[in-house]
Amino acid sequence: MRGLSLRARFPCSRRSLLTAAAVVPLTAAAAAGDGAAGQPPAAGGQRYFPRHGSYGHRTLAYDLRLAYDPDRAWLDGHARIRAVANDTLGRVELDLARLKVGEARVDGEPAAVHRRDGKVLLGPARPLAAGQPFVMDIAYAGRPKPVSTPFGGVGWDRTGDDHDGTLVASQPVGAPSWFPCNDRPDDKAAYTFAVTVPRGHHALANGTLRERQEVEDGVRWTYHHPGPMATYLAAVYTGRFGVDDLSAPVPVRIAYPADLAEEARYDLGRQPEMLRLFTGLFGEYPFESYGAVVVDADLAAPVENQTLSVFGRNHVDGQRSWETLVAHEIAHQWFGNSVGLADWRHIWLNEGFATYAEWLWSEHIGEDGAEVLARRAWLDLSARRQNLRIADPGRRHLFDDRVYVRGACALHALRLAVGDECFFRVLRSWHAVHRGGCADTAAFLAHAERVVGRPLGTVLQPWLFERSLPRFDVG
Ligand SMILES: [Zn+2]
Repeated sequence: MRGLSLRARFPCSRRSLLTAAAVVPLTAAAAAGDGAAGQPPAAGGQRYFPRHGSYGHRTLAYDLRLAYDPDRAWLDGHARIRAVANDTLGRVELDLARLKVGEARVDGEPAAVHRRDGKVLLGPARPLAAGQPFVMDIAYAGRPKPVSTPFGGVGWDRTGDDHDGTLVASQPVGAPSWFPCNDRPDDKAAYTFAVTVPRGHHALANGTLRERQEVEDGVRWTYHHPGPMATYLAAVYTGRFGVDDLSAPVPVRIAYPADLAEEARYDLGRQPEMLRLFTGLFGEYPFESYGAVVVDADLAAPVENQTLSVFGRNHVDGQRSWETLVAHEIAHQWFGNSVGLADWRHIWLNEGFATYAEWLWSEHIGEDGAEVLARRAWLDLSARRQNLRIADPGRRHLFDDRVYVRGACALHALRLAVGDECFFRVLRSWHAVHRGGCADTAAFLAHAERVVGRPLGTVLQPWLFERSLPRFDVG
């Protein structure tokens, strides 16, 4: 079967706009906002996925040993998780959907295991003190399936007509479909994956291949990614792939079903050029490698898994019809992956930036530039219902394409207001300051004002915190 009912993230459409605005000093409002219409969202407000993640601990590293049998769709897993307690903990809370847990240990001693509502609760032999590092070992197994969300199933899924491959596309809360984790976008960690698959199959994962070893029941592929990486960006792909290694400015891999080799090589062939362009505009590429995997299934949208984005068969046609999305997923490596989200409410910081990068790529290759695309986007937006505050759009609208396009327009409005040199200085320093961390809308506004040296409330406030569509001031 091709055509997983995976995800309904809307591909970033291009529309655009411009305008103006007005003026309200932003920084103070952003810090103190109450989330009402026209106001910045409250710090620490309602989380969109309150059942996911724990604030009891923070994670340092996941070491995942996985064996996948495609004939039975069966995953045997062992997770070793290094973490630090934030409070005194009598139990540790992890997210894990469906899969069965066998033995679990904390610091080498057997731990009590309880399951509840998609959680694994581990009871260590003795309470963990606040600030104490500890290690969890968890054996688990089962047939992974996507996690149901308002956006469709997300997480681990099968691919191919004969279902002998797999993919992971977890954004936003699919990670518990395949490993026990602290499923918050702001709990970043290092990852090691040792994935055993049958001979003749490939296993790909975030980061760098450390070892490929013949073992009794197949081949074990070991990858390491120092990250730091959020759970939703972790990914493993298994199945039959052709793989090419490109280079510059970092090692770049592409993987694809054999029958799509020619199309994938052409459609993904300008990724090194994209990396060079964005390195010039945004600053040094934040990770050790990049890559793109085309899986043997249709996907609602590509996903920017860290260092290894995923595309569906339907995104490859040998004509570069979807090349703007190739650029989009690469831009996320800076904005979304390296500079992550403190909370899903701030999603425009991911999608607005990546959509703007699409416009920059278009300009680079001699097609319509950001100014033309922004104005076109504004016209499209102006014909639509304006009922979305993109700075806190609500869970239901997390992947609404207005978040993408209006977010990009907000950046264009900033560019028009401060000029190219200053605008790109804001973007580069935003990444430099928050590289490997997480941030929110208020932090971006404060950062931009600091770099520009004057209040920007009248420029950005209407785009981010109001429902009505502003106009571009200039032009
Ligand atoms: Zn995106």
